[in-house]
Amino acid sequence: MAAEALRHLEALRDAGELEVPRPEQRVSTPAPAAPRTSGPAPAGAYSLADKGCGSEGLLAVRRELGECTRCKLHAGRTRLVFGVGDPKAELLFVGEGPGADEDLQGEPFVGKAGQLLTRMIEAMGFRRDQVHIANMVKCRPPGNRDPEPDEIEACEPFLRAQIAAIGPRVIVALGRFAVQTLLRDGAPISRQRGRWREYQGVRCMPTFHPAYLLRSPAEKGKAWDDLKLVMKEFGKPSPER
Ligand code: URA
Repeated sequence: MAAEALRHLEALRDAGELEVPRPEQRVSTPAPAAPRTSGPAPAGAYSLADKGCGSEGLLAVRRELGECTRCKLHAGRTRLVFGVGDPKAELLFVGEGPGADEDLQGEPFVGKAGQLLTRMIEAMGFRRDQVHIANMVKCRPPGNRDPEPDEIEACEPFLRAQIAAIGPRVIVALGRFAVQTLLRDGAPISRQRGRWREYQGVRCMPTFHPAYLLRSPAEKGKAWDDLKLVMKEFGKPSPER
């Protein structure tokens, strides 16, 4: 499985999809002692028990990512936020990037917006640990600004590799930034939400970000309509809310 994931990573790299250093280019200096802030970490630094690493495939991606310094966001992070959830989840949620709470805890969507996302997941008939949750970028943008193009370019190959390792049936893209960036479509989220799209060969449903729904509760009904389309895909009953 690890070999399979690595082969996949290498195939992505060889196809120009994944910019990871070839083994001969990897810096071989030993990783600094904890706390680790930059530079490569030894393979043993990560384990299946780490958040978002629960399969050999995901662990291989995490090891490839290492103590990433590929973009400037690494300088301001407390923790790299890789992902969380079932390593073989059929449903994957993708947000924008870690906020302050996520940066401190090393887990996506744990703040106020995360609590709403958890309620949305449960309303859909799933538990949070039955789905997978990740972000477009794995380190907190300063002041919660939008990630910049070079940051997306550095990080998206790892999201793609995570998706390949998880093999979800459906991706829910959360919010304007994730939707426009994942789908390479700059149309307003209000026009894109609720319509099935595709990302990396996986059906993708764009919807509003839970942080937006906290600011604009009147829009919750539209997000629920989008999530009902996802539930239908999974054959789940969708009560009116
Ligand atoms: N917002 C996001 O987009 N992602 C998180 O992990 C938290 C808040």
